Amino acid sequence: MKIRFLGTAAAEGFPALFCTCSNCEEARKRGGRNYRTRSSVLIDDVLKIDFPPDTMYHVHRDGLDLSKVHDLFLTHTHSDHLYAEDLLMRLPVFAHGTEHPLNVYGHDLAIRLCKNVVASPPADRLSYKLIQPFRPVEAETAVITPLLADHDRGETCLLFYIERDGKTIFYGHDTGWLPEETWAWLRGKRIDLAILDCTSGLVGGRINHMNNEAVIDMKKAFLEQGMFHEDSVTVATHFSHNCGLQHDELVSIFEQHGIVTAYDGMVFEL
Ligand SMILES: [Zn+2]
Ligand SMILES: [Zn+2]
Ligand SMILES: [Zn+2]
Repeated sequence: MKIRFLGTAAAEGFPALFCTCSNCEEARKRGGRNYRTRSSVLIDDVLKIDFPPDTMYHVHRDGLDLSKVHDLFLTHTHSDHLYAEDLLMRLPVFAHGTEHPLNVYGHDLAIRLCKNVVASPPADRLSYKLIQPFRPVEAETAVITPLLADHDRGETCLLFYIERDGKTIFYGHDTGWLPEETWAWLRGKRIDLAILDCTSGLVGGRINHMNNEAVIDMKKAFLEQGMFHEDSVTVATHFSHNCGLQHDELVSIFEQHGIVTAYDGMVFEL
């Protein structure tokens, strides 16, 4: 399985849109992997998680063909994860040559925001699918179980357990330390790749988002509780400019713990 990290920043981007803090200025100076856009991954070109406002840029930067995507899963409606207005571009006149609908999976608020933009799409263009926590979905490209996050109390924020081609991915952001229901569901499951929320970096706290320490502790917990095997991989992503660390510093901290630091455009083979 090929997992392409399209974006690896939190909501504001890194360097952030309107910010002149020392972290953003340093990122501008260093360039390269310190430039991060809003978060999404693309799996084997056919399965996408989240639809951020930087999607057009991702497509141009990486030379992608998004018409190949069959399933789009939405974690929640924060603006760095869902820019519903661009779903219009899947409709006739804007998109030629598509032969199958894009299946859009989300909880009630996410689907409602999509319907506010395209209320009744042609069935061969967009197909909305309502999903519920802990109810597995047999999508065209994978079996995916939505799990509960600890994120925004104002909506049902989801994480995903993805099963495809005999491999499993835990898509773990945006979230703080996992709610007990999610831990309970994961016990007894195998995780080959865990993609975890590292919004806060050096800043304390593991409510709504996680920091470096929480990512390291979660990897340990997955090992101790048997979800991880010796070849399981942890990737840290979704970095805020407030995290206090540039890419090289993140790498030097995380490599001591056998954790991969994501960057925009990183392709991971599982
Ligand atoms: Zn986010
Ligand atoms: Zn900043
Ligand atoms: Zn969020």
